[in-house]
Amino acid sequence: MIDLRSDTVTKPTVAMRRAIADAEVGDDVYHDDPTVIALEEKTAALLGKEDAVYVPSGTLANQIALRTHTEPGDVVLAAQKAHIATFEMGAPAALSGVTVSSLPTVAGTFAADDVRAAVPKLHASMPSSVIQPVRLLAAENTHNGYGGRFWPPEQLKAVAVAAREEGLATHLDGARLWNAAIASGTEPGDLAADFDSVSVCFSKGLGAPVGSAVAGSAELVTRARRFKQMFGGGFRQAGLLAAGAIHGLEHHRQRIVEDHDNAARLAAGLAEIPGIEVDVATVETNMVYFDVTAMAAPEFCDELFDLGAAVLHAGGSSIRAVTHLDVSTDDIDATLTAAREVLG
Ligand SMILES: *Cc1c(COP(=O)(O)O)cnc(C)c1O
Repeated sequence: MIDLRSDTVTKPTVAMRRAIADAEVGDDVYHDDPTVIALEEKTAALLGKEDAVYVPSGTLANQIALRTHTEPGDVVLAAQKAHIATFEMGAPAALSGVTVSSLPTVAGTFAADDVRAAVPKLHASMPSSVIQPVRLLAAENTHNGYGGRFWPPEQLKAVAVAAREEGLATHLDGARLWNAAIASGTEPGDLAADFDSVSVCFSKGLGAPVGSAVAGSAELVTRARRFKQMFGGGFRQAGLLAAGAIHGLEHHRQRIVEDHDNAARLAAGLAEIPGIEVDVATVETNMVYFDVTAMAAPEFCDELFDLGAAVLHAGGSSIRAVTHLDVSTDDIDATLTAAREVLG
């Protein structure tokens, strides 16, 4: 089966399994698992931050960051369809007591002026106690909900700087920051530089089985560790999992470019098939969203599945395919052959 549903479906490689089997472990709740500590140090260094904390999922990483930056009643600014607000089960309200206010967006990005305009200004006739407490700006790079597009690095920097000038804390949801860095020709640390906290996933493009991290200042990460424990994210001999993440960082980060090439190849091939519409210009990283116009999208997915390729119905006529470590160029060509057969 060629599994294009998500880049989270990767299985650990033989070399990664060996690293996992050989991992030294301790008790992460006591913060003495040497492999977890090594992963945290490595991640912090890559992101240009003082410290990082390893956690079981990207959702938990984001929600720990939100809780770390806010108090109940605060408002978080984020683009429409931000993962933190749309795919995390209402966690900002449930776990931190905050609301997420949507910024207007172009494909998941926004401008420094949008941030400035969203922060209420003190008015001479109003006491500060009635001014809406907008506390945090959250940006997502790449944008999951907008097809894996990445931020122009200068624009990302400009919104973080504007937020800081407005007195806001800043968080970068970098579940696919590795993809953004490759696609924009920038180091992950440069993309994260102007943000107080950044979350990254090891279980997507890097192909590790489990885990994410939140990075930031030593003080921020100390506070984040408290909420990791509070939210039930303390995991004991997590060095086994961290070893997979370290292996992914060391061996799978640069090869992400192959995923982007495969996504572009898939999009270009799909664009040639009558009954499929795809805007190839919007395929910038490892995600391809396309529309099937010649038949119902769920039916197309079922028939493609029977021919050996799994894709995700994204609602209406839209379908999502995501490339990753376990998808080869031959798999892309086989998927295109199958798609032609379904529609032919
Ligand atoms: C996948 C993803 C997450 C959450 O990661 P999980 O490990 O699936 O919880 C957070 N943000 C974005 C942008 C994502 O794509």
